[in-house]
Amino acid sequence: MAALEKAWLRNYPKETKANLEYPEQPLTAFLEKAAADFPNREAIHFMGKRIRYRELLSDVYRMAHALKEIGVQKGERVSIMLANCPQAVISYYAVLLLGGVVVQTNPMYKERELEHQLKDSKTETIICLDLVYNQVAKVKDKTSLKRVIVTGIQDYLPFPKNVLYSLKLKKDGMNVTVPNQPGHYSFSRILKKALAAPVASQVSSMDEVALLQYTGGTTGSAKGAMLTHRNTIVNVIQSSSWVYHGKYGGEKVLGLVPFFHVYGMTVVMNYGIYMAATLILLPKFDVESVLKMITKEKPTLFPGAPTMYVALINHPQIAKYDLSSIEACISGSAPLPLVVQEKFEELTGGRLVEGYGLTETSPVTHANPIWEKRKNGSIGVPWPDTECRIIDPSTGKEQPQGEAGVLQVRGPQVMKGYWNMEAETKKVIQDGWLNTGDIATMDEDGYFYILDREKDVIIAGGFNIYPREVEEVLYDHPDIQEAAIIGVPDSYRGETVKAFVVCKPGRKISEEELNQYCREKLASFKAPRIYEFREELPKSSVGKVLRRVLAEEARKNEGQE
Ligand code: AMP
Repeated sequence: MAALEKAWLRNYPKETKANLEYPEQPLTAFLEKAAADFPNREAIHFMGKRIRYRELLSDVYRMAHALKEIGVQKGERVSIMLANCPQAVISYYAVLLLGGVVVQTNPMYKERELEHQLKDSKTETIICLDLVYNQVAKVKDKTSLKRVIVTGIQDYLPFPKNVLYSLKLKKDGMNVTVPNQPGHYSFSRILKKALAAPVASQVSSMDEVALLQYTGGTTGSAKGAMLTHRNTIVNVIQSSSWVYHGKYGGEKVLGLVPFFHVYGMTVVMNYGIYMAATLILLPKFDVESVLKMITKEKPTLFPGAPTMYVALINHPQIAKYDLSSIEACISGSAPLPLVVQEKFEELTGGRLVEGYGLTETSPVTHANPIWEKRKNGSIGVPWPDTECRIIDPSTGKEQPQGEAGVLQVRGPQVMKGYWNMEAETKKVIQDGWLNTGDIATMDEDGYFYILDREKDVIIAGGFNIYPREVEEVLYDHPDIQEAAIIGVPDSYRGETVKAFVVCKPGRKISEEELNQYCREKLASFKAPRIYEFREELPKSSVGKVLRRVLAEEARKNEGQE
């Protein structure tokens, strides 16, 4: 670890400034620098297709020219609705180069979610996968969309489409031809026609908004977090100074976390480009493809979500794959069960540490130091230049060290606010302090522990129960692959604890056994009273188990009884 960080750790929590230097430049400068320093290094490896840094930059310039040609203006919102593929990286930097605002759109969005996002952001241009074109077509006339640019995964592949089918990508929707109508464009056609001459960045200040990252669920009320060039650049530099001292121009980053999610965007794509690393992309998380890819392409860094590591370690033939190239992994977006961390480290010989963050903080605010002073079960310490405090939600006062409360953070990675939602912004940011909505504690060394989300805390018979603690116990059971805990209404206790459990392949456990196990490990008020066995659990795009969806289902079922 660098001396700077050691000093900072020692001084925590009094002196939280590490005073990193953040260059006054737009996000695209990372790519221009990497291409100047390593023109022939592989920037992207995508299912057999290899793109060098100079080719990537030249395609970004072409796309910027093409977008300008069809009328995209500075400040305009451009939606990118793509899986992880070269086009996602090219579109992202091309829009930013023109001073546009990237609206990150999940390709899994259903019509209602897509319509809300496009209307709310007043997006005029969308770059989408052919697989989802039909969704876009359905909402187009109800929104302000003027231009639709369509691309297919196959546009950047060196092999025929039937190989795609074997990768279990959805067949229907493939081969959508771009309608020959005004305002419809083929990505590859406009790219091919455009000039590759350099485009000067249209961004005049780092405080200009670069991204709208929608957050807040799948209901119509999702909000667009405005992240500036500064927010994102800062978070990339904080990551590189803190987590892992990788070699500039020498790393290979596994790009499985979706780039439309803030975590994949900052910690994988922008960090990877900043490090002039090779991004190894897969458009979809498929356990076998991932294991083959790791064995063959030998990534050194693997930012992921806990459910990804869970799926990999439970693959029946895991021993046949070589994962030894992986040196460092940062797990974010949800709690990392200890057993998963230990097993994954045993398999790779590398280090897997837990980090924490949220959309509103671009995203990372905390992580464990990777090589020394890591504390298991903790999200680690705040990153350089990030201040934290723990507040008693009932009094608004700061809690004494060791007491639980709502975690608030302040730092240069905190968003500018929610797009067109001043009142909502004021609710979560006051004096620069962002209320995370997570309940946390801090130990005497300044390490933080997330107990749970404030709104997920279960109150049963007057006791507070943190679902995460109960989930940890279930994850420890040798027959259990995944678990989720929610609170359900109970006429006597107010709420009671319900467990959703997925067994490992070929394993089975009865409700009675599980009940006995939980009662041995947990105070009786915390032990689940209801169990439901499932084949799988609903997950978000980054693999976060969606307790909210389980709770909604439980509510609906209750109504039907
Ligand atoms: P999102 O904005 O969708 O990325 O979600 C942010 C939320 O994810 C945070 O407010 C936390 O509730 C949760 N989260 C992220 N990382 C962790 C972690 N390491 N442990 C527990 N919860 C986490």
